[in-house]
Amino acid sequence: MKKGANDDFIKFVLVVDDEEVNREMLGFILGSSYEVMYASDGDEALDKMRSFSDILSLVLLDIMMPGKDGYQVLEEMSHDPSLQTVPVIVLTSDKEAEIRSLQLGAADFLTKPYDQPEIILARIRHSIDLYENTNLIHATETDALTGLYNKEFFFEYCNQYDKHHTDISMDAIVMNINRFHLLNAMYGRHFGDKILCAVSNRIRHNVMIHGGMACRYDADSFYLYIPHVDDYEELYRSIVMGLTELIKDGESRLRMGIYSNVSGDNNIEEDFAWALQACNLIRNRIGSGFAFYDDEMHRKQIREATLLDDFEASLENGEFKVFYQPKFRIMKNKTVLSGAEALVRWGHHKFGMLYPGEFIPLFEENGKIRKLDRYVWTEVGRQIRKWHEDFGVFLRVSVNVSRIDMYESDITGFLSDIVLDNDIPDGDFVLEITESSYTENSQQIVDVVNRLRAIGFKIEMDDFGTGYSSLNMLYSLPIDALKIDKEFMGEITTDERAKKMVELVIDIAQFLDIPTIAEGVETEAQYDIIKGAGCDIVQGYFFSTPLNVDDMTEMIRERKDDFG
Ligand code: C2E
Ligand code: CA
Repeated sequence: MKKGANDDFIKFVLVVDDEEVNREMLGFILGSSYEVMYASDGDEALDKMRSFSDILSLVLLDIMMPGKDGYQVLEEMSHDPSLQTVPVIVLTSDKEAEIRSLQLGAADFLTKPYDQPEIILARIRHSIDLYENTNLIHATETDALTGLYNKEFFFEYCNQYDKHHTDISMDAIVMNINRFHLLNAMYGRHFGDKILCAVSNRIRHNVMIHGGMACRYDADSFYLYIPHVDDYEELYRSIVMGLTELIKDGESRLRMGIYSNVSGDNNIEEDFAWALQACNLIRNRIGSGFAFYDDEMHRKQIREATLLDDFEASLENGEFKVFYQPKFRIMKNKTVLSGAEALVRWGHHKFGMLYPGEFIPLFEENGKIRKLDRYVWTEVGRQIRKWHEDFGVFLRVSVNVSRIDMYESDITGFLSDIVLDNDIPDGDFVLEITESSYTENSQQIVDVVNRLRAIGFKIEMDDFGTGYSSLNMLYSLPIDALKIDKEFMGEITTDERAKKMVELVIDIAQFLDIPTIAEGVETEAQYDIIKGAGCDIVQGYFFSTPLNVDDMTEMIRERKDDFG
């Protein structure tokens, strides 16, 4: 493959001579084997070299020229890092000049009047080969374990390849072995190495078939740069054999992210970053082992980067707004306002109103959620106080607490300050903690929740039914209310089992003396079912969407005498 890299490319040679007849003659000799460029003086030569340094294979340089002569050109080249590695053959009729030019870094010399064309061509080829081999030896270093290229050489090679094959459309592919570190831990390093070699062999086999190149990027990931293929299913299946011949079904999986039809003008490392995104997208996804980086992903990525960039300034400019979705207590013949859930919205200066589904997961990934949540909690504390001042009632408001918040050592202090500063009675500032937080790191969460309850906070377990806590876990978990996930609501009117499930949850909660809240109630039919099942509180579009502060204030004004 290395050989192909050197031999197949069109090579560029720059002929520098002040005399037109010499330029023409050399051009004539070289023309059939090389792409020839010309310069008629030292300055023009240096300009051209700088512009084409990365595709230039050789310079033929006349020593005796008016203005900047060949020595000066060699001298300048030796100080310019981009030109230091371009081989130069000097053109001279003077023995003295030969020695001096060699000392200045020339690779070889040709004497005037010129020898036979064959000899000239042979010496040129020799110099180019020598130069390329030295460069290759410098960069080659394949990965010792798998024999694939290392990443430095790989990227260098991809760049070279692109330069000389502008007409070939390429695919950048990233492959990764799921849970490789676990396989290593379970079966030992030696076995892990065996897996890596088996996968590498399959990759090498495919690169031989399709052309292109591949490297081991790091421990368990591989990069492939191959001419565009249409059948990825086949490619994937062929490479995955390396893995499936060694391990049991389900122990691991090969993931493949593809950025297809890469244009040679792009930055190659960036192309692979996109392919990597696609590869990461399917990290936890069941189904196909490969995914594409497409325009939509690209747009999403850019948008996410913008949102992250804008976060701090938006927070300062008050672009984040707290909305309140009312909760109603179910009475025999009516419902009464019993509280509200605080839900954040982002009135983004450019994108307009954004909903938490778009930015909360993003902020959870990099910790910005802590700052946002604290902002929301502080706003809510102030607002509860204000409503009390205006209407003489305390509206019980629940806020969402991200799992990330639960690992902050000062969370209890921060929250209790809000309650104290605003004189909020115990139990009127409620915390919603999602069920999956409990199941992910149970003991840690339980400890924090216990501390929060000890200082007077009420805790609602949010999204119940989406995590993995079993019903009997409810006995032991410290919670004050259970919010049944809105997913159930969509199903209870059509699916008898979903309905039974919700009824059972409500029964058990009643037995444990824990009130239940049904969220996402959108229709009367849904309401009738959960009311019939004995649910205590409802929240959902059927009763009210989340409201801005003014509308929520209006609702409190209207209903302040009938609170539940
Ligand atoms: P969640 O805690 O499950 O909140 C309920 C979500 O259901 C809200 O979406 C609400 O607008 C929506 N919803 C309410 N009634 C209905 C209904 O009848 N039908 C349907 N289909 N949906 C309904 P929203 O406001 O987009 O919030 C999404 C999630 O973002 C919330 O889910 C919560 O987990 C999170 N979130 C919202 N605000 C905050 C916050 O300040 N901090 C943190 N950490 N998370 C927040
Ligand atoms: Ca919630």
